Amino acid sequence: MSYRGRFAPSPTGPLHFGSLVAAVGSWLRARSQHGAWLIRIEDLDPQREVPGAAEDILATLAAFGMESDEPVVWQSRRTEAYDEAFARLREHVFPCWCSRSDLAAADGMHRGACIAAPDATRVPAWRLRVDDRNVGFVDLLQGNYVQNLQRDVGDFVVRRVEGGYAYQLAVVVDDAEAGITEIVRGADLLDSTPRQIYLQQLLVVPTPGYLHLPLVLDRTGAKLSKSEAALPIDRDNPLAALRAALDFLGLRDAARSAAASPEALLAAAAAHFDLAAMRRKSDAFHALD
Ligand code: GLU
Repeated sequence: MSYRGRFAPSPTGPLHFGSLVAAVGSWLRARSQHGAWLIRIEDLDPQREVPGAAEDILATLAAFGMESDEPVVWQSRRTEAYDEAFARLREHVFPCWCSRSDLAAADGMHRGACIAAPDATRVPAWRLRVDDRNVGFVDLLQGNYVQNLQRDVGDFVVRRVEGGYAYQLAVVVDDAEAGITEIVRGADLLDSTPRQIYLQQLLVVPTPGYLHLPLVLDRTGAKLSKSEAALPIDRDNPLAALRAALDFLGLRDAARSAAASPEALLAAAAAHFDLAAMRRKSDAFHALD
């Protein structure tokens, strides 16, 4: 089976150094496997979206020499596919009126029975019932990862109160439809993966491989986040930022290559891509300060 990977940014702000690292990691892994690399814009939640951010991210990726091998997929245009998957889950979902404060006493988790009573005057969220068993996988970079969904996560939302589908459902539907064979993304999503594998099992779609990249942390140890507009990168100076991203990933030889364009630097890095050399642990990237 030929390799198909993807990068799936949420358009909540411009591409920053942390998301560049994820884009470069997924691009390199796909190219090192002679595979396809696709882009999907995760514009599922209009409230979190920044107008123009999606176009800005695509333009920045292009300036860095990374373009989707197939037409870009926009989640906002895929409601029908999510409706269909949601319908297939009907025996596993239930409407829920519980608020955050209702669930606070249970560590914010919903386990089994609802606390809030049904309320015909309010739109419910829809949760997926989880069972008491371990769901695990072997991550190519982070190793073995296991959760008991009932204990660690609880029944989780697949359709939000505002009517939109939740990331967990959309990502599974989209990756399956695109035939993604391996998901390379930031380690902040490691603890979402068992939920996604559980959904894959219920929807009877294949489980791809996983490789979770270390996160770039700020000085306080928090993840660089697009919504906080952390360190947008300079589209006019892609070589410097690309070298920094390669260096952060642990691909030091590639970072020092004498390439004169982003395309040449990425091609050199893909040719010498070395999984064993890659950084595993999230860390601050001091050179950027
Ligand atoms: N849209 C998510 C983000 O920007 C990534 C989702 C994924 O790669 O599964 O953090």
